[in-house]
Amino acid sequence: MQPSPDPPPLDFALLQQTPPGQTPRNRRALWWMLGFLVLVVASVVALVLYLSAFEDEEEERRRVADGQWLEQSARFHFNRLEEDLLVLARQAVLESPRTPSSRSAPTMQGGLLWNAPGAILWHGWQEPGPQGQPARWQTDNQAHPSNAEALASMFDIAAGLRRSAYAGPMRQADGTQTDTVWLTVPFFERGTFVGNYVAALGMEACVQGLVPPWFHQSHRVRLVIDGADTTAADPDGPSAYLAPMNLPGTDLFVEVAPLDTQPATVPRIFLLVALLFLLGMLVSLLALRRDIGKRQHVQALLQAQVVLRTAMENSVTIGLRAWARNGKVLYVNEAFCRMVGYSAAELVGQSAPMPYWPAHQAGELGLLHRDVIAQGTRDEGLEVQFQHRDGHLVDVLIHESPLTTALGKQVGWMSSVLDISERKRAQRLAALQQEKLEASGRLVAVGEVASTLAHELNQPLGALSSFANGLLNRLRDRSIALDEVAPVVARMARLSDKAGGIIQRVNAFARQRELSYQRFDLTGFVRRCVATQTTPPEVTLQVLPPRGAVWVQADGLLLEHVVTNLVANALGWAARGASQPGQVRVWVQSATEPRMAQLWVADSGPGVREEDREHIFNAFFSTKDGGMGMGLAICRSIVEAHHGRIEVEHDPELGGARFTVWLPLDGAATGPSPQETP
Ligand code: ADP
Repeated sequence: MQPSPDPPPLDFALLQQTPPGQTPRNRRALWWMLGFLVLVVASVVALVLYLSAFEDEEEERRRVADGQWLEQSARFHFNRLEEDLLVLARQAVLESPRTPSSRSAPTMQGGLLWNAPGAILWHGWQEPGPQGQPARWQTDNQAHPSNAEALASMFDIAAGLRRSAYAGPMRQADGTQTDTVWLTVPFFERGTFVGNYVAALGMEACVQGLVPPWFHQSHRVRLVIDGADTTAADPDGPSAYLAPMNLPGTDLFVEVAPLDTQPATVPRIFLLVALLFLLGMLVSLLALRRDIGKRQHVQALLQAQVVLRTAMENSVTIGLRAWARNGKVLYVNEAFCRMVGYSAAELVGQSAPMPYWPAHQAGELGLLHRDVIAQGTRDEGLEVQFQHRDGHLVDVLIHESPLTTALGKQVGWMSSVLDISERKRAQRLAALQQEKLEASGRLVAVGEVASTLAHELNQPLGALSSFANGLLNRLRDRSIALDEVAPVVARMARLSDKAGGIIQRVNAFARQRELSYQRFDLTGFVRRCVATQTTPPEVTLQVLPPRGAVWVQADGLLLEHVVTNLVANALGWAARGASQPGQVRVWVQSATEPRMAQLWVADSGPGVREEDREHIFNAFFSTKDGGMGMGLAICRSIVEAHHGRIEVEHDPELGGARFTVWLPLDGAATGPSPQETP
């Protein structure tokens, strides 16, 4: 791969009509992006709020669940403790002597609270009545009046309601509350109250014993003796749940507070992932925005470049056309379209034959087209004619150069087409002018020669005539035999008359008199001219029958000179060098394209050599012994004066020369108005 070349430094400032970033489309895209950004931020905020609320709710639910669990756990374990005490009561009543002093220490597996260190401060069997109260009992009972009251009502409730009862917490003498709570379990034997099994409980130790170690790791558990003293200890800490201990006769609570609030990990991870995605989206959006900006810039540059190039293409006067290698038109510029009158849409994609090829040159142009597609044009270019849509012909000069890609691969041809119609017209006019000049020059030259000839010949011919007359006079004097001389003399006279006539005609032409146009049928005219010719015995003269009248406008006197000259030459050359008898054939016909009359004079003679054909119409060109070489020169001058032309070629049938005279048909002539000849 070749490195791509740097773009040419162009100043597009003038052409850049839509600078990037200010188009309505841009602004709309920007608004959309801003809206999207706001939406994204709002979504993030909403998500965070929702997550926070969700976490709070979750925390609250967990806290309540933990509190309720602890509440139930306390209920369960205190029930168990009551059952344990009942077992002890039974042991005390049934298995041991009634005196507490002789009783053995109770033996029992016990529940969680029974075994919790510091939970049971004291326990023992107590008969109804005030006797035998233990020291601890005495202490608590006397410490504060409310203690005695609570303990008394505890016993009353236990005995009266026949169920376990609690009293406490005990107050000290100064009124401060301790964590000691008394529990009494009444025992009945055959429906008769026998006594209570009493235990003093250290509630702090009970509460701590209730809670398993794993719960301690994540929660702070505290006994709340006074209901008002709940979360005051740590107002900034996590909100605590106050679980009632439901011990009848007491007003105790357990405060459960989570130690460190464990955030909900999964939603946070989701949120984090979502945030990462959003961030990614924002970054992509920004990248996209930058990319769009760059693209728009490049697009604007390209647009400017296209505008500049289109402006350049449209303003050049040279036609531009690009071909693919398969001969299809790839591109045409406006100048080319103007030249041929077809639109670019009509031309692009076309292949040979092109609509602008003139019909009569289509074959030739097709061959040229094949060559051009294969190898382009030569340095000097190719001159051809195109036909504009309106029918007029356009001369063009085409230069083809290879159409190559940036990698140097040729994909077709690029043609520059120059309209040279004006130049061609000027050239044609100049050539015509030159031809006219030459023709008139020749006429002048011939005129001069002819007048000289006439001048030179007129006197000897006059003398010949006088001589003939003298001879006739002698004959009349009978000094010579009449039958010997008379035919000769008569012939001399005819000859001299004829010579005189020729001289007159040439003289008149040499004086450059105005041509006297007449309208006549060329066929009859030629027949009359031929009839005056003397045909040698070894030659056959044949005038082919006409296909119809061929009307022309011409000077009969001059045209007779042409016909007789051509026929005389043909008769003279027909039998030359041939063993067989000679033949001369004369015929006339009218041609439609171009509208001309044609007169042919062909013979069986040796013909005119190829290299002499150009020169035989020049004055003084002659291959005949003693020939002056003026006859054909005069003929050409006369024919051209009638806006016609004369040519010589080989006659394929008779084998000799064939002279063709082209004359404008009546109506096509550009001479003065005709005078009808009856
Ligand atoms: P001239 O007859 O005096 O030579 P022309 O002008 O009539 O002059 O003819 C010029 C030349 O053209 C002749 O010399 C001859 O070479 C050639 N020429 C004319 N007519 C014929 C013909 N029918 N066949 C062969 N050559 C001819």
